[in-house]
Amino acid sequence: NSDMTLSIRLIPYSKDLWMLVARDVSRLVRLEEMRRDFVANVSHELRTPLTVIHGYLDMLDAEDYPDLAPVLAEMSRQSDRMSNLVEDLLTLSRLEAQGITIERNRVDMHGMLNTLRADAEGLSQGRHTILVEGLTDVDVLGSAQELHSAFSNLVSNAIRYTPTDGRIIVRWYRTGDGGAVLSVADTGFGIPPSHLPRLTERFYRVSNSRSRTSGGTGLGLAIAKHILNLHDAHLEISSEVGLGSTFSCIFGPSSVLDAATQLAHHTP
Ligand code: ADP
Repeated sequence: NSDMTLSIRLIPYSKDLWMLVARDVSRLVRLEEMRRDFVANVSHELRTPLTVIHGYLDMLDAEDYPDLAPVLAEMSRQSDRMSNLVEDLLTLSRLEAQGITIERNRVDMHGMLNTLRADAEGLSQGRHTILVEGLTDVDVLGSAQELHSAFSNLVSNAIRYTPTDGRIIVRWYRTGDGGAVLSVADTGFGIPPSHLPRLTERFYRVSNSRSRTSGGTGLGLAIAKHILNLHDAHLEISSEVGLGSTFSCIFGPSSVLDAATQLAHHTP
């Protein structure tokens, strides 16, 4: 049956015997596809009504309705929040789609670091010390747009979960095995160890009032993880409550480019 999906595992049984376990997971795979399609369709359908609501809210000038000013401000805030959620859900559905491929271009990491510095400064508005440092001659093979969205999510989390006067440090450095790491460290609130393994699940948030009022969607790290996985990279998180957190995007050698490395389609 060509539609059947089997999960096959080889398990040691005794000293020189192995057990082959084949499980029909077709139904699970189909259900997962249905869930993905459903979320993508609903999110897409929500876009138009939200655009209309935004449009009318923009037309209502708070100065003409002084009594309603706080109500209009809250309606605006909540509809922005809903739009962010819908856009994040659409991004996640796109990244979860099977067989998705990404561009494989040289991503100028020096330019990326400058963009991340500007992102951080814009969000912090002078409330934090921001340090961005790293290699200027090592690049990544992939999609600049997708990578920026993964990295900038880590930067905005670092700002969001770090009190005023804290420090945010973005670093880009090589590992011994030919790979490279983009890390975002903060001196913020930190995350209790029990939450770390589940942090990249959709909608998973550390249950404290800070996460609830931060204005995030709870989808940022799930999106970042997917983007990194498409780049031969993965996310490692270390954190200590009260001291801060470090989110490291670890790239394998196959997606790291030295200045001297020529891309096949760039060679004359
Ligand atoms: P959110 O939109 O809620 O920020 P994310 O997926 O980006 O969603 O993050 C999930 C949760 O991880 C957050 O709600 C927060 O509790 C925790 N978190 C993420 N980054 C940090 C950080 N730098 N410091 C402390 N907690 C963090």
